[in-house]
Amino acid sequence: STSLALYFQDRKRKRIEKQFEPRPIELRSDEVVNGVTGLIGNTPFMRINSLSDALGVEILGKAEFLNPGGSVKDRVALRMIEDAERQGLLVPHTGSRIFEGTVGSTGISIATIAKARGYEVTIIMPDDVAEEKVKALLALGAEVERVRPASIVDKKQFVNLARERAAHFGHTANPRRSMLRTSSSSVVVTSTASESALEEDHLRTQDEEEELRTKPRGFFADQFENHSNFDAHYYGTGPEIWRQTSGRVDAFVSGAGTGGTVSGIGRYLKSMKDDVLVVLCDPEGSGLYNKVKHGVMFDRKEAEGTKRRHQVDTVVEGIGINRLTHNMELGLPVISDAFRVTDAEAVAMSRYLVQNDGLFLGSSSACNLVACIKLARKMGWSDGQRIVTILCDSGTRHYSKFWNDDYLHRANVPIDIQIIKDLLTGP
Ligand code: PMP
Repeated sequence: STSLALYFQDRKRKRIEKQFEPRPIELRSDEVVNGVTGLIGNTPFMRINSLSDALGVEILGKAEFLNPGGSVKDRVALRMIEDAERQGLLVPHTGSRIFEGTVGSTGISIATIAKARGYEVTIIMPDDVAEEKVKALLALGAEVERVRPASIVDKKQFVNLARERAAHFGHTANPRRSMLRTSSSSVVVTSTASESALEEDHLRTQDEEEELRTKPRGFFADQFENHSNFDAHYYGTGPEIWRQTSGRVDAFVSGAGTGGTVSGIGRYLKSMKDDVLVVLCDPEGSGLYNKVKHGVMFDRKEAEGTKRRHQVDTVVEGIGINRLTHNMELGLPVISDAFRVTDAEAVAMSRYLVQNDGLFLGSSSACNLVACIKLARKMGWSDGQRIVTILCDSGTRHYSKFWNDDYLHRANVPIDIQIIKDLLTGP
């Protein structure tokens, strides 16, 4: 059964994890941290007072915008780089270069960490992404290539291009990806990347070892398929949430861009407490809502002609997808419900929070909080139940789109705080 399979998967991962002794979570305020990566993680939880008081439900947001790279993606970038180093795919100070296809946050996180660890960075991104993300990337010394938004089946799509550029630079196959391919050609996945990396270690000759140590190489970070993304949350964010709430958590709500957050945290919390609800928040036009509710990715008729079909110029950035990534697949079995959030609701929430809480958030955080209200109302909760979510990034990443009234006007999205008041008190 699914839960038995999950149990064995989790147990196996824990065993492998022990072999590698993951970086202990460093303490934030009462200790000197070691370099910029020491600032990653261990973010505080913030009670969203206006929403919690109105609902009688504790709405807690994990303040991921406090990470040094400005978003939850710092955790993932660090984990991907550290895992690649453990597998010998990246060696510091060899002129090696990390490649990634991203709408921004992950690129900024990779760029933030890269220089501190001795790497160069190339980021490929669609050209409709908020301009401040490009500026941040350039300031951080990344090389940025912007391409026309295209469907994932297109060779020129940003993720596909990143993979190709990395291959040109001498990317050695990410073992996890080859594992995935093995599994789809019907062989069951019996070993994980970490294990196969271990086996490889035994097989390498001395010459190969020397080459590994000195040769510049390309590394395609591949956040959508890379298992390290899931692991960053399963071994990092999830346990932090558990510790910070002393296990008193009734539901976890999250949107999905790669799926790493909802899957990693969802699976961890579920492994600690079986009756915790893991709930997906999905922006307009994303296919995941239908996947959770009806088992199919999207209704073709519904998606035809919408912007999201090819993810062109979306108001909400960072969440919403129309294909199943590896990191999303890992979480699907534990997600029990989903809520759609409209652009207008997300915009209304962001303005409401500034007015009532002095909280200036990005678009995906606003979506998450709308979904928290919808969940509390649907469940009929009002006795101090606790819903936790992620405050992925701050509004400063979104001045040119989500926080630009002219842009929203052109995109036909109303700015109306009443929408939130109605959600809080309406039928
Ligand atoms: N919010 C923002 C701002 C993001 O950039 C992302 C990642 N693309 C997410 C949320 C979603 O996180 P995940 O990729 O783990 O699903």
